[in-house]
Formats: sequence, structure tokens, C-alpha cells
Amino acid sequence: MTLGRTQATSYADKARLPAKPGANPPAVILVEPQLGENIGTTARAMMNCGLNDLRLVDPKEDWLSEKARGASSGADAILEKAQKFTKVEDAIADLECVYATTARRREMVKTVMTARAAAGDMRTRGAAAQRLGLLFGRERIGLTNHELGLANVLVEVPMNPEHSSLNLAQAVLVVGYEWFQAGYDGPDAVTTYNKTMPVTKELLQELFDHLEEELDLCGFLRNDEKRPSMVVNIRNMLQRAELTVQEVRTLHGIIKELRYGRREDRPKRQPGYKVDKV
Ligand code: SAH
Repeated sequence: MTLGRTQATSYADKARLPAKPGANPPAVILVEPQLGENIGTTARAMMNCGLNDLRLVDPKEDWLSEKARGASSGADAILEKAQKFTKVEDAIADLECVYATTARRREMVKTVMTARAAAGDMRTRGAAAQRLGLLFGRERIGLTNHELGLANVLVEVPMNPEHSSLNLAQAVLVVGYEWFQAGYDGPDAVTTYNKTMPVTKELLQELFDHLEEELDLCGFLRNDEKRPSMVVNIRNMLQRAELTVQEVRTLHGIIKELRYGRREDRPKRQPGYKVDKV
């Protein structure tokens, strides 16, 4: 096992890491979005992140247009359910905690959290059944100071100070991603074994025996003094490979072929380790 990684407990063929969206996802409120395309890609990002409550304050383009639907790439359901408001105050009226996202520092006394810290905060509040919302600003000018004043905290995704402003839907994706990750408790890495399994020490020992027997016969281990350390080195190489049952079977086959190959004295049935056993 690689150090610092968590191994899946089951060796079943898993195409994906286990992930689940979690309770009380925040609503996403877009304030005066300019482009239908950005509303569509926002819906897509939301669906990726397990967010489903889209609220639009005075959108400048139709969010159910072909352009918006196309950009949503299958997240039409979120567009269809989206609610339209004329004022930000109305869009957040039923929420208990609102996070206003901004790319720029403003002249006001207010806590600014990173998206990661806000994600943890949202998870804590969400677990306590609070209703949450994320405010996103206009493509051109962001949120006004008045709108920031309606929020509990500001959220900034720390980016290159020379170029920190994200595209609207990309900002939704980054903040949504952090929210999703904050609830992820699966392993950091898993190995996909398909139909095979990691080999047991018993089967690995049989491979060592087979290999060392052949290496003795061909003379590779003829130096008695060096033999013990050479054997340990070879074993360590194979231990590091974290071999599967199938790979061990292949190595038994390789050792047999190296011994007899296409040689004329090749016996009809090759003696040696019963490959079928492993
Ligand atoms: N030109 C605007 C930025 C508009 S980007 C400005 O200078 O304010 C559209 C929206 O995406 C922003 O209002 C904000 O809600 C979000 N956004 C973009 N970049 C962000 C960042 N680095 N951190 C947090 N939110 C960001």
C-alpha cells in the first residue's frame, strides 16, 4: 500500500470514487446575469456539484432559451425549476445565511472567507438544517456594496491577484466544488482491480520459490555469499510492485517460457509450478 493513501476496503470493480452531495445544499442566486449561456453553464456546474436551487434576479436573457439549455448540457431540470425575482431581498427572504461571492476586496468591515472555509461553514450550518444561499454578481460589475451588505459573509476564491476574476459559471463551479469536497469522506485513492485481486503472501511466496529455483538452475544466484542479499533485493522489487493474482500468474508463465521457450528440448508438458493453482 502506498504511504499516505487510503485503500478501498472492497476490491470490487469501482469506476468512481464514492461521493454523495449531502444535506441542505445552498441555493445559487445569480444577480442580473447578462448572458443566457452563463445561466446554462451555471446550471451545469450546479448539477455537477449536487446543487439544485437556482434563483435568478432580473436576468437579462431568457434562461430557457436554446442557447441556455444547450450550455447546460443536460442540466435542463435545474433551468426549468429556476425561480425568477425582481429584487435580491426577495430572492434571499427565506434563507438564514447568505454568502456573497466577490473577486474584489471592498471597503467594508466584514469577514471574507476563502471558498474552502465557506464550504466548511456551509456544511456545519447545513447539518443544523439552516437554509443557505450563495450570491453571485453580474459578469461586468459583480455585486454592489448594497448587495454585499445583505450577506452574512463574503467569499473570495483566492486566485492570481493579477487576474482574479473568474467567469460567472466557473465561479459557481469552484465554490460548488469546495462545498461538495467538504462533504466527501471517501478514500483519497483506490486501485481498480477489475476482475482480479491483490495477491496473498502465500501465492507471492510460491512465485519467489519458482523464480529462485530457476535462478539457481541458470546460475544467476551462483555466488553463495551474495545469494541471500540478492534474493532479498529481488523479493523487495516484487513486493513493491503490489502484484495482482493475474500478474503473478503471468510471471509464472514468463519464468517457464524463459526456461524452455521455443527450444528443441522443450518438454511436451512443461514441468514446474502449476500456473493454474494461482
Ligand atoms: N468584473 C467583476 C467580476 C464579475 S465575475 C468584478 O470586478 O467584480 C462574476 C461573478 O463571479 C462575481 O460577481 C462573483 O460573484 C463571482 N466571482 C468571480 N471571480 C471570483 C473570485 N475570485 N472569488 C469569488 N467570486 C468570484
